[in-house]
Parts: sequence; C-alpha cells; structure tokens
Amino acid sequence: MVRARSHPHPLLRTMCPGPPARILPVQTAPPGSEATHRYDRQMSIPGFGVVAQRRLSQATVLVAGVGGVGGAVATYLAAAGVGRLILVHPGDLEEPDLNRQTLMRPERLGEPRVFNAADTLRAHHPAVEIAAVDRALDDPTVPGLIAQADVVVDARHNFPERYLINRLCVRSAVPLVVAAMNATEAYLLVVRPGEPCLRCVFPEGDPSWEPLAFPVLGSVAGTVGCMAATEALKIAGGFAEPAGGRLIHLDLWDVDMRGPRTRRDPLCPDCGHGNAGNAGNAGNAGYVGYVGGAGGAPGVDEGPGSPT
Ligand SMILES: [Zn+2]
Repeated sequence: MVRARSHPHPLLRTMCPGPPARILPVQTAPPGSEATHRYDRQMSIPGFGVVAQRRLSQATVLVAGVGGVGGAVATYLAAAGVGRLILVHPGDLEEPDLNRQTLMRPERLGEPRVFNAADTLRAHHPAVEIAAVDRALDDPTVPGLIAQADVVVDARHNFPERYLINRLCVRSAVPLVVAAMNATEAYLLVVRPGEPCLRCVFPEGDPSWEPLAFPVLGSVAGTVGCMAATEALKIAGGFAEPAGGRLIHLDLWDVDMRGPRTRRDPLCPDCGHGNAGNAGNAGNAGYVGYVGGAGGAPGVDEGPGSPT
C-alpha cells in the first residue's frame, strides 16, 4: 500500500495541506500490453500504476477540434498511451493557425488540418490508433463516434457546436471535458453523467460574439489543452479525482485561477427533465458568455471565480 497526495516538502505541506492522504493499492502486476518502457515514468505515480496504464491503452477518446487547444489535448493523450483517438475537425490549414497549432506542418498549408495533426501524432506515437475525421460536428456520423468514446474533449470554438457535443454526450452518457480560451483566459468544465452540463452552466450564448475573431495566445491554448488532457486521462485511466461540478477559470494575464461550483438546472434542455429532446436550437448563440463574458454564468454559484 502506498500513500498519495501528501506534499513531501514541509513548507508546501504547510501552505497547501491538500486533501487527506489516501491509501491506494500497490499495482505491480506487469501486464503484457505495457511491456514497453515508454510509460514507466507515469506508471510510477502513486495511484496510477499499471492498472491505469492498461485502462488508458484500452480507452477511446474523441477530441473535437485539433487547433491550439485540441492539438495540445491530442498530443498529451497520445503521449500518455491512450489506445485510440478519434479526431474530428473540418477545414484546411491556414497561415494564421501556426501561432498555436503545434501539430501542423507549415509545408502543408491548404491541406486538411485533421490529417496534418494525425500524421504528426502517428510519427511520434505509432502504437496509438488514430482516426482522423475531416467533417463538421453536425455530420451524421458524429453521434455514433461519440457513442464509441469513453471520454470526449470539446475543443471547438463556438457555442452551437459546443451545445451539440454537450447534448450528444449527455444522451450517450459519455463523460465530457469542455476546454475554451480567449486571449489569456481559459475555462475548463468536466461533465460526467449526473453532473451539471454545459447547458446548465451557460443556458444561452451571446449573439454579439464574432466567430473566429477572438484573440489567441498559443501558450494559453496549450495550457488549457494540457489541463483538459489531464482531466480526460483521469477519467479514462480511473486515477485521481476529475474536476466535475466546477467551472475552472484561469487567467494567465495575472495567473489567477478559480473554480466555483456549478449548479444543475432541472429544466436544462440537455440534461434536465422538463424539456428533453428540445435542445436542437442553439441558434446564433455565441461564445463571449463562456469565455470572459461579463456578469458570470447563470449556472455558477456566487463567489470567487465567477467569470467576469
Ligand atoms: Zn444540463
């Protein structure tokens, strides 16, 4: 048995006592599928071990969007040994994408971004099965792809697509990690079955948002992408505690991070009981209400961390 979650340094232990140490079983059985040493350094994390590694190797994660955020997500899911990635992203690579989309090769400008990303990942992680889907999220194949996934990561850039992914995940009981950013701000929301969903937290978007015009600093996209990947790995690998039921807000301008609790809306059109099946009209709902919009989100508890 090993203890986890205690700070080894006495000063850190005083400043950040954290949750009580948990007793976790030692995992020593060497599974045949983890014969490689590639994952040794993560399997030595207390509470992770070969059991989590085996779960990851058997997991399917769908990543919606392989831009600045989703590219970082896919990179670290593949690096951690997730067995199968489904990447969904329509559209071709353009030069302004290159300040943040690190999976893209500049000599492939004008080619589909999702194929570009998949080829880079395959070169680095040949054991990972990667399906690249150059289609929009409203393609009729997408619900079936989401139903195959153990976890979905939403790294799209607009509310209509986010609402669609949210609805499909809720209906298929597939855990969802929502990642978003704007300039130096980032948001993260984990939605497991029964937890407040994206529509509970943001019932309506903001039609004033101008799609694809928001500013992006690549390092911020990468930061929230890494955080989203970590949450997806926790869920798929069954280790640690995902950040469900909270809206994580991070502003790297002054390095401020908060995580207010979210509330479930009993009348939510996606996860509630009152209007089930009536969630298809996302309209022109935008993005500002979610990333850096004024006044906070209706489904977030008052207190530190409400987005402003
Ligand atoms: Zn909901």
